[in-house]
Amino acid sequence: MKDPYAARGIVIIAVSKCLLIPNSQASLWHSFRNTLNPSPAKAQSIFFAVSKNLRLICVYAIIMLFICIMKYIPKPFLFNCKTVLNNFIDIIYPPRCHICQDWLKDHPHGKQLICDRCRSDFAELHSPVCPVCGRTFESESEDDHLCETCLRNPPHYDALRAPFIYKGRLMEAIHRFKYGGKTNLTRSLGPLLASFALMWLNKTDHLLIMPVPLHPKKLRGRGFNQSLLLAREIQSSLEVELDFLTLKRIRDTQPQASLKRIERRKNVHRAFAINTKKALKGRTVLLVDDVATTTSTLDECARVLKRAGCVRVFCLVLARALE
Ligand SMILES: [Zn+2]
Ligand SMILES: [Zn+2]
Repeated sequence: MKDPYAARGIVIIAVSKCLLIPNSQASLWHSFRNTLNPSPAKAQSIFFAVSKNLRLICVYAIIMLFICIMKYIPKPFLFNCKTVLNNFIDIIYPPRCHICQDWLKDHPHGKQLICDRCRSDFAELHSPVCPVCGRTFESESEDDHLCETCLRNPPHYDALRAPFIYKGRLMEAIHRFKYGGKTNLTRSLGPLLASFALMWLNKTDHLLIMPVPLHPKKLRGRGFNQSLLLAREIQSSLEVELDFLTLKRIRDTQPQASLKRIERRKNVHRAFAINTKKALKGRTVLLVDDVATTTSTLDECARVLKRAGCVRVFCLVLARALE
């Protein structure tokens, strides 16, 4: 067999099938009936109810016992136990790349969710770029310069940056993260954005991080805000304040991806509001989102934030789409 993990998986499934004891509850019922000889059907229902609850009580007792023992186990030993447990999980469920599904043979449990081949496909965004909106130019010169859009209609935000271009395997990863509910991809994508933020905004004082909010209806449907998950990664890396309550989305807008450029601006107009202006007076805000295309959403957020008293608004996205 070509893959060692597949062979190991088959052995584990075979062993676990042998260990499974079918009808254990039924045999227990027969021994109960032979001992006490209760004829009515009521006894049967009582027996199954008791046996079901007993199983729950046993699980609960094991968990409680484990918690009690944990207090008395020295920390280095606990750490070793965790490593052993993780290695054991890796044997049963060998980790796979969340994008191409290839085996992650050289990565220990939970450390990396994207293989090296997929990671090397992420296209970094290089100069020349527009220093305001972060748009990249197809030019041989490496000098950054303002784009025509920023010259004609300067946006409300001060600068927007992205470490990568929205295409290829990164686009696939973001789709799986955002629409496929693969929130644990934050563990791989978040640090990439956080290290970029650290390089870009290391010397900025009193920074306040804010994710682009979702409308409560969309948040209920998706179950998480991808921008908040990314913002949390940046917050722990930069050790600055995170605020995900002050800026709110008050209109459930259409998905921007389905609209044309002019329609996108109209779609997000007056879609955001501020809860309390007090917290924002004189602050520098870092708005975090997953993808920027026309930057209409980020610009509308920046407009609302500046009206509320923010002095500077920077925007950071994981990927910048090529228009
Ligand atoms: Zn991969
Ligand atoms: Zn620009």
